[in-house]
Amino acid sequence: MELLARLAEIVGPHGLLTGAEVSGRATGWSDPRPCGALAIVRPAATEAVSRVLAACHAAGQPVVPMGGLTGLVQGCVAGPDEIGLSLERMNRIEAIDCAGRTVLVEAGATLQAVQEAAGSAGLMFALDLGARGSATIGGNAATNAGGNRVIRYGMMRELVLGLEAVLADGTVIPALNRMLKNNAGYDLKQLFIGTEGTLGVITRLVLRLRPLPSGSQTALLGCTRFDQVSGLLGRLDGLLGGSLSSFEVMWREFFRMVTQPPARGRSPLDGDFPYYVIVEAQGADPVADQARFEAVLAAVAGEGGCDDAVIASSGAQRDALWALRDDVGQMFALGEPFVFDVSLPIAEMEGYVAEVHAALARAHPGARCFTFGHLGDGNLHLAIVGPTGVGARAQVEEIVYRPLAARAGSISAEHGIGLEKRAWLPLSRSPAEIELMRHLKQALDPRGILNPGRVVGG
Ligand code: ZN
Repeated sequence: MELLARLAEIVGPHGLLTGAEVSGRATGWSDPRPCGALAIVRPAATEAVSRVLAACHAAGQPVVPMGGLTGLVQGCVAGPDEIGLSLERMNRIEAIDCAGRTVLVEAGATLQAVQEAAGSAGLMFALDLGARGSATIGGNAATNAGGNRVIRYGMMRELVLGLEAVLADGTVIPALNRMLKNNAGYDLKQLFIGTEGTLGVITRLVLRLRPLPSGSQTALLGCTRFDQVSGLLGRLDGLLGGSLSSFEVMWREFFRMVTQPPARGRSPLDGDFPYYVIVEAQGADPVADQARFEAVLAAVAGEGGCDDAVIASSGAQRDALWALRDDVGQMFALGEPFVFDVSLPIAEMEGYVAEVHAALARAHPGARCFTFGHLGDGNLHLAIVGPTGVGARAQVEEIVYRPLAARAGSISAEHGIGLEKRAWLPLSRSPAEIELMRHLKQALDPRGILNPGRVVGG
């Protein structure tokens, strides 16, 4: 094919993968099917990304930008008429500015590599999530990733100061701002953050760094009632004076899954509770911070804010608590899970989860629903195992998404829309918003070659 020859010319013989080199790769982290793309092109610099896109634009060739393939909404599932555009060769940490507290990176660097580079300079890149070893920083930005510390540092959108992106026709947009404040016209980087590669391909980023905390204090709390959980959030955030960095909740069924065989984790609490909360604070004075953390938890427990608590007394104990929360892979041993990512006001959560469980029990007796998530961010994950067969997925989506409408919730808190949720977008966005999204898509990608069909369809 003429276009493939042209792309090989641009990226060099090792830069273009075809045939078994493509099908030998998996579709994604949770999708072991062979990658179905026509080819995967791997440019090593922005200029090559630009030339690749210009060639694809001229040929009307659909392109699927690929990061670490850890997404969960089929945003990067490429079909046989689509070419994957992987930035895996663009993974350099280019420069760290300690005074300005920024780092300049290429989009293909993994989140973990960025975290480690910041750490080695005595600073912290605050985004953190379980897939850190594979997820790329460009993918994190394109999907506006969230994760475990949003309550304190915000989502990826709050951590990107500037970026460079390439439009569908190959035009390079050099918006590598390094300042916290820059109101000189439209903030163009926002066109590319959270738009899932449909408006342009992010190639480099300037990220905001924070002081590296010198220590963290972590605890696991057991609660009998949901109003304790929701009360804890505000109470702890207030008493800890801004150092609360995580507030993760696991419902009982999820907690049992990760603390009973075949899982290797074990509960450090004796009792059995409907809700478990991982609370973490980060500060600059480990000894004083630990003492304050213990005093705050003792006060909260004394008020009846929780029914049991254990505070990690070593790094290993902290890691063991987080390993429970991160052991989501256990559910794959039970069957093919349907995984959901929704957000809604915290005051609505108890009723919402009860409604989903009741509807699920009626429609699919024996189905199991594992509920967990970043409660401090209003973000729940639900993993449902059991329903199979034709139409099961659609039926479960109806059960999970429909009750969000009356609660002003969102069908996507942090995973995005991809292919998987586009039919549901009207439940969370008004017709006028969707129309504006389509206008933007039309303006920036008039031939519809970038991630066609994702997010707003078309
Ligand atoms: Zn999450």
